Order: sequence, then C-alpha cells, then structure tokens
Amino acid sequence: MGNYVVGIDLGGTNLKAGVVDTDGKIIHRLSIKTNSNADPQTISNQILELVAEIIQGAHIEASDIVGIGLGSPGLVDKKGETILFSPNLPRWRNIPIRRIMSERFSKPCVLENDANAAAWGEKWVGAGREVNSLVMLTLGTGVGGGIVLENRLWRGANNVAAEIGHMVIRMDGPLCNCGNRGCVEVYASATGMVRRFKELLRSGALSSLRDRDEITAKMINEAAIRGDKASLDVIEETGRYLGIALINVMHVLNPEMIVLAGGMIGSGELLMNPIRQVTQQRAFEASYKDTKIVFSQLGNDAGIIGAAGCLLKELEISV
Ligand SMILES: [Zn+2]
Repeated sequence: MGNYVVGIDLGGTNLKAGVVDTDGKIIHRLSIKTNSNADPQTISNQILELVAEIIQGAHIEASDIVGIGLGSPGLVDKKGETILFSPNLPRWRNIPIRRIMSERFSKPCVLENDANAAAWGEKWVGAGREVNSLVMLTLGTGVGGGIVLENRLWRGANNVAAEIGHMVIRMDGPLCNCGNRGCVEVYASATGMVRRFKELLRSGALSSLRDRDEITAKMINEAAIRGDKASLDVIEETGRYLGIALINVMHVLNPEMIVLAGGMIGSGELLMNPIRQVTQQRAFEASYKDTKIVFSQLGNDAGIIGAAGCLLKELEISV
C-alpha cells in the first residue's frame, strides 16, 4: 500500500493540491486558478489533471498513493458523494465528484466540506493535536465552521454541520448571503468587516484609508497595526461579535479548544483581546475557563492537509 495521499482544496479562486504523507506533511504542492464561472465538466477535468500532474511532479508512482481527499466549499450530500451546491462556484450543482475521481484513479476518495476538512487538519496535526474536541472558525470572505467531538468530525444528521457562520447573533441584523439576517458572517467575515468600516467612514470617522478607492480586510488589519484609530475600532468590534458567537459555541459544546483561522486573523492579538474579554465577561465561567482559544497552526495548508487526513481517517490509517 502507498504512503501518500493527495489532498485537494477547491476554492472559488484557487484549486490547491498537495501530496501529503501519513504524518500530515506536504511533500509537494501545486495550485492553479479556478474559473468560478466554469461549467462542472471543466472544473472536474481541472481536478483530475491536477491530481495526475501532482503525482508526476512529486516523483512518485500512482501506486504510492493511498487515495484522494477533496475539500469543497458548499453542501455535500448525505453519503459524501456529491457536491449539492457551492455558493462560490454557482454552476457547480449535483456533481458526483467522488465517483468521478475514484473511477479515474481507481483509488478510494473522500469528499468533505472544506471547513470540516480544515478543522480535521488542525485536529490531526495542527493546533488541536493534543485535544479530543475542538471547534474551528475560518474567517475569510465568509465564515466557515467545523466541529470535532471525541476525535471525530461532527457532520450532523444531514451532513451539513457546522455552519457556525450562519448562527444568528442579532435577530434584525443586516441581510446575509444565505437569505437570513444577523448571521455571524455578516459581522465577522472579511466582507462584513469592510462593510462596517465603510459605515464608520461615512459617519465621519478619520482614517488613513479614507481616500482609498478599494478597501480590503487586509488593508484594515495593516492600518490597525500602524495605529489607525478607525481600523482599530472596527477590529475591536469584530472581536466582540466573534466573542458573542464563541460564547454560544462554548455554552452548547464546551469544547477543549476553539481554533480561529483565515485572513481575518492577520490582526492577531488586536482581534483576540476583545474575543477573550467578551467571553470572560459573558460566558459561564465553567464554559470558558478550560476552553483554549487559539489561532490556526496550519494556516492556508489546513484544507489540503485536512482533506488528506479525512481520507486516512476514513480508511482507519490515522487517529
Ligand atoms: Zn447567513
């Protein structure tokens, strides 16, 4: 049997793949641009070509590969075979990608929601390797969630857990992409923070970013680190919203660890301090005191490593 797994992280902008060994190390990687408007056939072909190419590039044989793990944004069907719907890949509906990959490579394959895969990656070889339960929030363009309980991913009755980004924290809050109002995502995603920052500027707040045509979360993080008051304020507020979300998570699950990942953590302690403050002020002491809140250790690699880890877990090769 082989010693490697191909882990794939399918995103709206990039399709990333890595050859991962059974200790969770990436020994070779490749990334190509995804055309988010491409038809399913084109994206499936891109995935198949990328797998063939990465095996060749890593100077290993196809027989060295145990299987393939694919992490995809959006909803995966109950059997883990089909991507039902992916908000970032609008034309990608009802594609039986697991079967397509298995048939092409004659290897076992798993299909997992990308945030779940990332959470499993952190549990397997990242920040959570010493704990049995963790909740992970990926704070990017949207807010993804993953839950590990007693060393297993919690996928829920219909395989659609854990949409922590769509937990409602304000009943009459702004409209979310999901159609609901007041979700964590409208406050704590990069998009949400930029929206609130622009509101702050419109209300007259002074900022070094005031005259920029385009404002990104990365620019706000960098300005805050330089001491920009409006940027500091909006990050602090983001931390408080996240703190509220984490209190809910703590009260429901009391996990050993909460891992925060994604571009939004670029502001580091500026984001973490208000999160800690709010949770300590407002959560049951027993719920927060033994829950470590930490940043991701695998960073952008969590998706690739986690997808590979999900395959090993399914085959009962790893933890
Ligand atoms: Zn929502």
